[in-house]
Amino acid sequence: MRRRPRILVVEDETKTAAVVTRYLEGAGFDVEAVSEGHEGLRKASSGAFELVVLDRMLPGLDGRTICRRLREGSRLPIVMLTAKASEDDRIGGLELGADDYVTKPFSPRELVARVRAVLRRVGPDAVEPRRSWRGVTVDLERAEARREGEELALTVTEMRLLWTLLGAPGRVFSRDELMDRALGPEFDGSERTVDAHVRNLRRKLEPQRGRPRYLLTVFGRGYRLGDEEDG
Ligand code: CA
Repeated sequence: MRRRPRILVVEDETKTAAVVTRYLEGAGFDVEAVSEGHEGLRKASSGAFELVVLDRMLPGLDGRTICRRLREGSRLPIVMLTAKASEDDRIGGLELGADDYVTKPFSPRELVARVRAVLRRVGPDAVEPRRSWRGVTVDLERAEARREGEELALTVTEMRLLWTLLGAPGRVFSRDELMDRALGPEFDGSERTVDAHVRNLRRKLEPQRGRPRYLLTVFGRGYRLGDEEDG
């Protein structure tokens, strides 16, 4: 039998942690919950988990710091829990490298749906595991992205975005399309969320800051792969 995916929950509010654990277990995941930041970072870095649900406000080490530190060497999918409902705050979490986030108070079912959606993005595309264009390659089976042979440390979300764009180089993808194809139909973020992910992807993909060679903005329409001459 296939091993149940393991999820780490880092949350200091006992009641929330218990509800989240119960729902995730009910959805078929193995769950371990910890309540302190340093322990959360240590466990999340252990390689024993497929995804971490990370609260923003924690004793010891806060969620944003954990997120940033994890991203220094790991692509572990991160779903942030945040009490702040403002969009700037949500975008802030994504810029640190979270794959998605849920605003408190949230329905446990919604959280489960988000976790499933993020994990689906990690899963390999069995039919066509590899896409390349001009030295840029995404290998979903290996969860690996490269430019001229050099590995790019992309999050699963950034990888899905690049994968989608690689499906049709030159074609303009609207933000709606990118949300749908790369982030999944459950994703209910705004266009600014897509822009934030694209910004992160661009920072890692483009050799020269401010002069995109691969990922171009088409004003008022969306994004595409190509260079200016492709016009
Ligand atoms: Ca908390």
